Amino acid sequence: MLDKLNDFTGSHGQLQRGRGLVTGTIALSLGILCFLGVLAFHFPQYLTTPELRKSYNVDVMRFILLAAMVVSGGLALVNIIFNRSRWLSSAAFLLVAAAALLGGHKVPVNDFADNTPYIGLDWFILDLLGSSLIFIFIEKLFALRKDQPVFRAEWQTDFHHFVVNHMIVGFVLLATNLMVHKFFGWAANDGIRGWVGNLPFWAGLLLIILVADLVQYWTHRAYHEVPVLWRLHAVHHSVKSMDWMAGSRQHILELLITRTLVLAPIYVLGFSKEVIDAYIVVVGFQAVFNHCNVSVRLGPLRYIIVTPNFHHWHHSQDVEALDKNYSAHYAFLDYLFGTAVKSSRLWPEKYGVLGDYVPNGFFKQLKFPFVWKG
Ligand SMILES: [Zn+2]
Ligand SMILES: [Zn+2]
Repeated sequence: MLDKLNDFTGSHGQLQRGRGLVTGTIALSLGILCFLGVLAFHFPQYLTTPELRKSYNVDVMRFILLAAMVVSGGLALVNIIFNRSRWLSSAAFLLVAAAALLGGHKVPVNDFADNTPYIGLDWFILDLLGSSLIFIFIEKLFALRKDQPVFRAEWQTDFHHFVVNHMIVGFVLLATNLMVHKFFGWAANDGIRGWVGNLPFWAGLLLIILVADLVQYWTHRAYHEVPVLWRLHAVHHSVKSMDWMAGSRQHILELLITRTLVLAPIYVLGFSKEVIDAYIVVVGFQAVFNHCNVSVRLGPLRYIIVTPNFHHWHHSQDVEALDKNYSAHYAFLDYLFGTAVKSSRLWPEKYGVLGDYVPNGFFKQLKFPFVWKG
């Protein structure tokens, strides 16, 4: 079983249907999440994110855990009974059994100290469950490439990026917060902060997105036009299939640099907490949605708002689209700065880096910017 599991997690191909591999993978992923979830219940001080756990309803979390255990265990059992990919489903079943033995959804949570170092296991679990449910549903409803499966080629690499980027979210938040305060603290002006902080909600939200996207646009353009920076950003562009998982493929240094630069003006200008929270929801949704395998173009609105169609073109290998469409929220910025893709075709042909020189696999991509001789 272990040999087969090792081979399986090390591979990068598309999952074949009809042999219990897809249901087995879902059962195993859920089984792992259940096991990690029970650990988070046992050691909340080290494994959950302080900002998140303050707003949890623990009973809802327990119910989600129980539901995941039932679904994972059920899928695994059915596969074992019908002799479909038994090795995969047995591993899933063992994990669910271990989660149940460790207390399952009934682990009591006592008072614990705050301020301990932590990894954001809870954020990873909840975001994976939430995003996969919401975005796979949207992709099935509005599929662009209907024959592209959820577990397409190279999904393992993107999943690996997803896991790592989420686990270190606490560290990234802390690091960017420190850097923003250290490097940009001098720029804060009480008069401006007061004015911005008192803007009506919708005005504040439209303004915060504009400020963030202006910074994002020029940072993103620099990633494309400055060769040293392109080394980092090429990793993001190496995805060959667009879907909800594709956007996770991003070098950790790029993540840190971009977040710091985008958060700096937001901090300096002093937006209200409601506006910042709403902006985080918008960013979180658009960052995933723009990569989704959906045929969304939005008619004339596409000249104003960034759609999946707009960002798909950014990932295209077609020469007419190279180094274009940089915006993340407001498409009009690219029309304003003269970098919008103008094509007579509706959708691009092929995604990825022209010349295909970025290796596949998480660790190879982590090293890539430092070892590439291009
Ligand atoms: Zn780019
Ligand atoms: Zn992208």
